[in-house]
Amino acid sequence: MKKILVTGGAGYIGSHTCIELLNSGYEVVIVDDFTNSVAEPVRRVQELTGKTLSFHEVNLLDKEALDAVFKSEEKIDAVIHFAALKAVGESVEQPLMYYKNNISGSLTLFEVMRDNGVSNIVFSSSATVYGDPEVTPIQEDAAVHATNPYGHTKAMMEQILMDTSHALEWGVILLRYFNPVGAHESGQIGEDPDYPNNLLPFVSQVAAGIREHVTIFGDDYDTVDGTGVRDYIHVVDLARAHVKSIEKLTSKVNGTLIYNIGTGTGYSVKQMVETFRQVSGKEIKTIIGPRRPGDIAECTADATLANNELGWHAEYGLQEMIESAWKWQSTYPNGYRDAK
Ligand code: UDP
Repeated sequence: MKKILVTGGAGYIGSHTCIELLNSGYEVVIVDDFTNSVAEPVRRVQELTGKTLSFHEVNLLDKEALDAVFKSEEKIDAVIHFAALKAVGESVEQPLMYYKNNISGSLTLFEVMRDNGVSNIVFSSSATVYGDPEVTPIQEDAAVHATNPYGHTKAMMEQILMDTSHALEWGVILLRYFNPVGAHESGQIGEDPDYPNNLLPFVSQVAAGIREHVTIFGDDYDTVDGTGVRDYIHVVDLARAHVKSIEKLTSKVNGTLIYNIGTGTGYSVKQMVETFRQVSGKEIKTIIGPRRPGDIAECTADATLANNELGWHAEYGLQEMIESAWKWQSTYPNGYRDAK
């Protein structure tokens, strides 16, 4: 494996993965149309690594343009597919937009891969496919029953890839991410949401004085302190799981492999806020609100399979996750809009 095409490479997880790929000696071709992202991280990825990559501004629904990318690049060995819409609440309100973008866009990509003889792919899936798990930590053979359109698109794409790997002898790795947080240690690349849907970017913005308080969505769950518990994973660790997956595909995978990517350790909302206070030295006002519809009490990963089969281990703990998130937030309070 030499040349990797990364869809959504300008996004949060995509940009961190491009850094790790370039640092590991891979050539990178990004396809991104800047839906929910901007060009600046692509420039910074190259600046940070001292390497150049190839970039194509193409929407995955544009089959002709996508095909032209595959034809113009000499030989693509594998694809890492991040590009997708990802806001759960928005997916409930606009399911058709989610199915069109996430499913049709992926189908087009898979067809173009087939037509161009590319048969290895790492797919960005999510712990959300497990819905409300019966047992935690969750193992990969737990039942899949997503509870919202976003989760359904992830579960459907997993199925499409499993069927395709079987029929066309593709090598497929599905990575089910738990809760990605944090930023690159340089403070130059990070998560840059217009309006944060997830806990940590929201807490960051409150610490930075951009928002007034964090609403804790329920403190009456059956957990350590009543607030929701999640398995937060440093985005750089997550990025490295993709590099390990590409290495695994190099040894010829026939069929589909599925891995949870988390640390195995859960932290509550209150623990996250408290650690953020300590790291940033800022006051972070919290208000207890009602539960958010669809939320579950606890969700943690059993990542033993990824440890054993990919040789991947999470290296960073909570302290590093929050320190890096704060470094990014305090260096660029308005994210990439602060770019000079
Ligand atoms: N959460 C919260 N306030 C917020 C955002 C999230 O209390 O403003 C809680 C949420 O209920 C959950 C945890 O933080 O228990 C993580 O939520 P997030 O949306 O980041 O991830 P997900 O729900 O996908 O696990």
